[in-house]
Formats: sequence, C-alpha cells, structure tokens
Amino acid sequence: MVSVEILAIGNELLIGDVLDTNTHWLCRRLTGMGAFVRRAVLVRDDEDAIAAEVEGALGRGTQLLITSGGLGPTDDDRTLSAIAKALRRPLELNEQALVMVGQRYRELHEQGFVDTPEVTPSRRKMAMLPKGATPLFNPVGTAPGVWLTEGETAIVCLPGVPAELKGIFEHSLPPYLERVLGKGAYAEQTFEVTCRDESVLAPLLKTVADRHPEVYLKSKARVFGAEVRINLLVATTATDKATAEARLRAIVDDLIVALEPHGIVLIPQASEGEG
Ligand code: AMP
Ligand code: MG
Repeated sequence: MVSVEILAIGNELLIGDVLDTNTHWLCRRLTGMGAFVRRAVLVRDDEDAIAAEVEGALGRGTQLLITSGGLGPTDDDRTLSAIAKALRRPLELNEQALVMVGQRYRELHEQGFVDTPEVTPSRRKMAMLPKGATPLFNPVGTAPGVWLTEGETAIVCLPGVPAELKGIFEHSLPPYLERVLGKGAYAEQTFEVTCRDESVLAPLLKTVADRHPEVYLKSKARVFGAEVRINLLVATTATDKATAEARLRAIVDDLIVALEPHGIVLIPQASEGEG
C-alpha cells in the first residue's frame, strides 16, 4: 500500500477559526483509492515548521505528501518557499505556471470579478515554484497546484480553499496520482449493533478481529442511554475490489456467529459514500 502523509497549513486552522475539512476530505478520497494515510499534521504559516514536516516525511520514506494551504498571493502564504528550503532548491519563475495564472486572471476580468487582468507582482508570486516542479491547473481559483518529486517521494501542494483543493485534485491531479497509487481498492460497511455497552462488546469483537488482521474493525460508541445502539465499521484495503469485498463478507459472517449467542444483532446501515 502506498503511504501518504497530509500537511494542512494555516494559522487560521490552529486558532480554531477554520475547521480543517481538507484533511478529512483528502483522507476519505485517498483511502477510497486504496492508499494508506499514515499521518496528518496541522502547522502554522511558518516556513521552518513546514520545512521540518517536509524533511520528516522524506525521512520516513513517505511515498506521497499532500499539503493544503499557503499557495496564495499574500505574504503569509509560504508553503512553496518552505518546500524549496527543505529540498534545497531555488524558487524560480515557472513559465507554465505564469501562463496559467495569466489565463485565470483574464477570465476573471472578463467575468467582471477582478479589476485588472494584469499579472501584478503578488499574482506573479503564485507562479514562483521550487525548481523542477510542475504546475497543476486550478479550474476554480488562481493559484496553480504543484507536483514535484524528491527521490521516492511525490509532493503535491494544493490551495487551502476547499473548492480549489477539490477542483485540482479531481481535474488536474489524476494522471499524476495514478503513477504513484497504482492499483488499490477499498471497501467498508457500517452496522448498528443491538448492544448499548461497548465494554460488553469489546471482548467479543477482539476475538473476531484477531482472526481477520487485514480488516479494520471499529466500534463507535455514543453517550449512554436506554435505547442506544453502537455503530460498527468494518473496512479493508486490498489490491482489487473483489478481494476487499470477500474479506468483509468473511468477517461479517464471523461477527454474526460470535454475537448471536449474546443476543446481539448486526443491522446493516446505508453507505455514506465517499463524501
Ligand atoms: P490559503 O490558501 O492557505 O490562504 O487558504 C485560503 C482559505 O481556505 C483560508 O482562509 C481558509 O478559509 C480555507 N482553508 C485553508 N485551509 C483549510 C483547511 N485545511 N480546511 C478547510 N478550509 C481551509
Ligand atoms: Mg493561508
């Protein structure tokens, strides 16, 4: 499985002004594609803190590092200079990125959303990429995403605005991601369990989980109450969908047999989708 790390960047996240929905969205999408998200971190708009995390990811042999935030025109957007620093590469004007930025501002000007189509110095900043990087077209906003590789690690930088992050991920990133992720499949199923006390359920689940080490089995407790039922998730990642689904069928059959003598029933829940 391909190991992934996510680095969400922005002071606004750490003062609690903005909820880090990007990490959640990326975890969900990448897991759904069969990747293994190993670590996710929040850091401030601080060049040294960002660079230290990038160096850490390289040191851990992470195959894919995705950053969110800090690509904009403002001075506090420092993701690319931090990455350049960590990789000991210069930041340089990327001609392809400059064309993308110019094109997006011309379109925004034609739509009447900005006063001038001109590539001003702060707009030009968004085309300054670490040497060797490839810009990823941003179909929603103006700052291109960035793709680069360092040894065995691929680094992807995405803007913080959720619609832009998702736009680049879905529109421009797929051919690059395919190279890294290869084949992989994920399957999951959620149940409600007719048991209101997780401490009763825990030992029963453990014996089943031990027999299915490739499946993630997680009971999700709620606050206590007379009518409470506990949610149960089974999830697995495999090389193909059929294998993943067969594993889930096997553990569910085993769970039914293990819980039945205790009068506990599994009730399948509708899938939430990939969100
Ligand atoms: P940035 O590109 O870092 O300037 O971020 C632009 C805006 O996107 C911020 O002002 C936030 O409102 C939003 N944003 C940034 N990071 C995240 C995140 N991890 N999750 C959700 N929204 C975010
Ligand atoms: Mg920011």
